Amino acid sequence: MYRLHGEFCANHPWEVIVATLTLGTCLFTIDTKGYLLSRTRSEPGDVNIDIVVMTLVRCVAILYSYYKFRNLKKQGSLFLIFPGIFTVVSSFICSTSAISCFGGDVSDVKDALFCFLLLIDLSKAIKLAQFALSGDREQVKANIARGLGVLGPSLTLDTIVETLLISVGTLSGIRRLELLCYYATVSVIVNYVMFMSFYPACLSLVLELYDNLGSKIKIPWDFNKISEDEKPNPVVQRVKIIMSAGLAIVHLQNRWTDKEENYPLINEEYIEIKESQYLISFFKISADQIVVFILLVALTVKFMFFEEEDFVTEPPKERPKKKIEKFDVENDKKEGRSKEECLDIFKRDNSVDILRDEEIEGLIEGGAVSCYTLEKFVEDKERAVKIRRVILGKKLKKMGVFRNVPFEHFDYDKVFGACCENVVGYVPIPLGVVGPLFLDGEMVHVPMATTEGCLVASTNRGCRAVLSRGVTSRLVDDGMTRGPVVRFQNIDKAAAALKWINDVNNFDKIKKSFDSTSRFAKLTKVQVKIAGRLLYIRFVATTGDAMGMNMVSKGTEAALNRVQQVFPDMEILSLSGNYCADKKPTAVNWIEGRGKYVVCEAIVSKEDVSRVLKTTVPALIDLNISKNLIGSAVAGSIGGFNAHAANIVTAVYIATGQDPAQVVTSSNCITLMEASGEDLYISCTMPSIEVGTVGGGTQLSAQSSCLELLGVQGSNRAFPGHNAGQLARVICATVLTGELSLMSALASGHLVRSHLKHNRSAQCLSQSS
Ligand code: NAP
Repeated sequence: MYRLHGEFCANHPWEVIVATLTLGTCLFTIDTKGYLLSRTRSEPGDVNIDIVVMTLVRCVAILYSYYKFRNLKKQGSLFLIFPGIFTVVSSFICSTSAISCFGGDVSDVKDALFCFLLLIDLSKAIKLAQFALSGDREQVKANIARGLGVLGPSLTLDTIVETLLISVGTLSGIRRLELLCYYATVSVIVNYVMFMSFYPACLSLVLELYDNLGSKIKIPWDFNKISEDEKPNPVVQRVKIIMSAGLAIVHLQNRWTDKEENYPLINEEYIEIKESQYLISFFKISADQIVVFILLVALTVKFMFFEEEDFVTEPPKERPKKKIEKFDVENDKKEGRSKEECLDIFKRDNSVDILRDEEIEGLIEGGAVSCYTLEKFVEDKERAVKIRRVILGKKLKKMGVFRNVPFEHFDYDKVFGACCENVVGYVPIPLGVVGPLFLDGEMVHVPMATTEGCLVASTNRGCRAVLSRGVTSRLVDDGMTRGPVVRFQNIDKAAAALKWINDVNNFDKIKKSFDSTSRFAKLTKVQVKIAGRLLYIRFVATTGDAMGMNMVSKGTEAALNRVQQVFPDMEILSLSGNYCADKKPTAVNWIEGRGKYVVCEAIVSKEDVSRVLKTTVPALIDLNISKNLIGSAVAGSIGGFNAHAANIVTAVYIATGQDPAQVVTSSNCITLMEASGEDLYISCTMPSIEVGTVGGGTQLSAQSSCLELLGVQGSNRAFPGHNAGQLARVICATVLTGELSLMSALASGHLVRSHLKHNRSAQCLSQSS
């Protein structure tokens, strides 16, 4: 029960916070004694107008608070909870203190508490928090200052209007209304003071503390856009000023000309105090208050001006970049910059950071900036992605076409210049985990990203089948390849070059050049084929923990330069002559191997075959011969002597950030099954698994986590290459479990049934019917 309760609180924080606050407020304000009294005093059928009014106010306030918090939640950041709760709590505490300071009875405040809730304007506090988080993390303080600059003037005017308007109620002559209006007026003023001083200070402190703890806050807000939204309408502003003047006159007339009139006050007894007496009581400060005040001022001055050395433990950070200064200069020009001005800024800064999104869009539409190069000129890569989505949507006349393609909360710095270009977001793929897989004496859990129902479940069943005795694997060879094509004047020269390269005495010369390009890429073999006057040279190298395509390409270029020193008329036609062979089905990879050459085996007891796989050993062996061996031979397969190795390879490749196109070669596999007494012996041989644990997509956060799950993330410093080798062994062993399970499903006729159940979405069926 406690766990369930904890789960509920953790999963529904907003609901719990709002419920707790409103419930607490309800309990605080309900006057049971008064209510009972009024009930006893009232005649049956009488309605106490106070109770009705207050109940109405309470309900409206609760609904209003709920609505506000819901909006807060919709804005999407946990950080917005801080301004929300801060505003509510500080407003209540400070208003209460202020009322008691001005001589009010705090016990009366509960009546007005719901009015406070109605008056609280969360939006401004949230806006300031958004301003603070809109931009570089180092700019938080500058952003708060700029945010206050944007929000301050309109908020001040709003406060004046609100104060004058609400305080009209204190002249009404209706005691209850006068009290409520008095509290509300004080609350509005206190809120304003808090917002302009205490709140920005706390905001800055909280964000600084959070930053010091090493947390990274995503920055989803655009300063320019928020300030654009906040720009007050000048007509409305003028109306407000005129209204304030009118209200001020009303107040002056009532309070100063008619001095003999009773002044509404806050006590139960409704005490009459003349204007002059009220002012005297306002300014009457006792001696101890003066002492405390002087001490406070002295300490503040001391803290601000004389204690810097004590607090500064490291040299103050440099003023963050000149971007802020630039912004300050450009700040006043925000209103409608012309295209020429934008272009000038772009040419001057070689950056569009200080421009607004619409202005950047204008530059792209005008051809000054190419859409695909946006990341070069926008520091915040997420912003570049966001702008590109809008531009493409407009261009394709399909606004909102990317609405279901997420783009936020992604580390584009790792993508740009490494993994993808012209980025508009990312495509989420479900990630499953199979295991435990008992491999070489260790239990592993294997991540698989797929949209094929049944695949993870089926592979998991295979893992269960081999759990008691486990899988044994061996990495028997390792070598990434690149096979350029070079041309000679005639076959004579081509044959001479072939002979020179094949001469073992020359291998070291080529290797020296190749190896000089990397700390990890080491040339192990050179294979040459001749076709007319063309030579195809296949360079084979170990590449540490990297898959190695880029590394081997780099080494190949250097090695060819060395050969060219001996054969200057050798013409390099292409660094890749398809004899590598990368991402194409070829016999050379199947026969010679590419990347990691892995073999694994397992013995599954007769009982496990029957209990877990729901079939028999002879049935599996028979089907393996008919399908995986003879069937593939009939189909003229190269390396496809298996049931579905590509399924497992693809899912693990996507999960762990491998190059998915290399599934073509990497899923080469021959699955063999035979009897071992009454049990089943199964092996999988995969000669060309192209994998790495550094480089390419392996560095992206989610993919990196999946590698971490397998214990092979990144570079193995002690034994470079060990991590990539281990990943290849895991893949081969997982393929074995996948083979076992699918072959069993086919042998027992379960395949179609389970696919219809798990792989055909009910939604698809309903859509097509
Ligand atoms: P890479 O990221 O280009 O190179 C690996 C880098 O990691 C090298 O700079 C290497 O150092 C460094 N490194 C650090 N620790 C290492 C360790 N323990 N083992 C190995 N290297 C280590 O990665 P790559 O594997 O060569 O290339 C993978 C990328 O190539 C993928 O994005 C893939 O999609 C792409 N690809 C390219 C081609 C192509 O034709 N070029 C073809 C297919 C795929 P050094 O600088 O000392 O070597």
